[in-house]
Amino acid sequence: MIQAEGPVLAHNYHPLPVVVARAEGVWVEDVEGNRYLDMLAGYSALNFGHRHPALIEAAHRQLDQLTLTSRAFHNDRLAGFAEGLAELTGLDMVLPMNTGAEAVESGIKVARKWAYDVKGVPADRATIVVAGGNFHGRTTTIVGFSDDDEARAGFGPFAPGFRTVPYNDLAALEAALDETTAAVLIEPIQGEAGVLIPDDGYLTGVRELTRRNGCLFIADEIQSGLGRTGKTLAVEHESVVPDMLLLGKALGGGIVPVSAVVARREVLGVLGPGQHGSTFGGNPLAAAVGSAVIELLATGEFQRRAADLGERLRTGLAALTGKGVTGFRARGLWAGVDIDPALGTGREISERLMKEGILVKDTHGSTIRLAPPLTITAEELDGALNSLARVLI
Ligand code: PLP
Repeated sequence: MIQAEGPVLAHNYHPLPVVVARAEGVWVEDVEGNRYLDMLAGYSALNFGHRHPALIEAAHRQLDQLTLTSRAFHNDRLAGFAEGLAELTGLDMVLPMNTGAEAVESGIKVARKWAYDVKGVPADRATIVVAGGNFHGRTTTIVGFSDDDEARAGFGPFAPGFRTVPYNDLAALEAALDETTAAVLIEPIQGEAGVLIPDDGYLTGVRELTRRNGCLFIADEIQSGLGRTGKTLAVEHESVVPDMLLLGKALGGGIVPVSAVVARREVLGVLGPGQHGSTFGGNPLAAAVGSAVIELLATGEFQRRAADLGERLRTGLAALTGKGVTGFRARGLWAGVDIDPALGTGREISERLMKEGILVKDTHGSTIRLAPPLTITAEELDGALNSLARVLI
């Protein structure tokens, strides 16, 4: 089956050699009936686990009613979804899209339009400040401001209008802001870079500097948001409210791609008919699943689980530090774990864990990322940590 993909599928991924056929909760099963604990959770798209009953039910119900209208007409699910998302995030307006990269692209467009219409930046001069080590997706504009050579090389020419400053460096950020700055776009925690958590006070500092400069603070919470870190949003750890939030992944409950730009009215209000759109963005199936996701998050249960079990994860990883683990960064049920390179690359460790029945993914070098569904039990988490201990011997 894996060999059959070879000639017909673009080789833009290097998956672990497992062919998954079904899944339930935190467990997946391959075509031969072997079971694995999913410690990646679709890069946090599966925060509620595989096939959460409430989400599956919402999807089934909607499949029986209406799946797509396009935005040429209204549909009876979209307003409720937008209202729910605005309420969950404390912001005012929602622009529904599909994938994470689309939300980022849309956020960039909105920030530029806001800079011209509201801030008064001269035409075509708007700049957006981004952070080194960022990961915001794979479109040409987005890889153009990545500093990862693998992501960028061979895909130029790239769009101008971006300035890169080191992550977690407020002085560098301050120096990069000027009258042309439309926005600062950052991940509150850099996921793909290895779950890099900035110093306490960084997000507050970004908020303060963007307010003083009169530019927007855009938080890309596509991976960090929706319960993963123990709060609905990672920016809440510093009680910071950005001007614009980018959401995706878990917003679609692991069933359909759903993303959104969520912002203050003065910001998203700059868009008029014909200036942006998406055939599938805001479709009734996506809105129904997204609304069910919002209902799950409104209970606070998943955020609580992530916070409580996150402590257990930290304790477990601390116990492994010096025993094959050279360092780790963790917040909620999300950790970047640096493995002693002498024990193997991140890929080799992931393959060894797979043989133990644990699915993870390496990020860079010898770092692996742990991000289980937030429905994982304490016993299952302990099992994963025990497996990690075994493969590090
Ligand atoms: N932004 C962040 C922070 C991400 O982690 C990702 C995906 O990993 C994206 C954007 C892109 O999302 P998508 O793969 O849905 O386009």
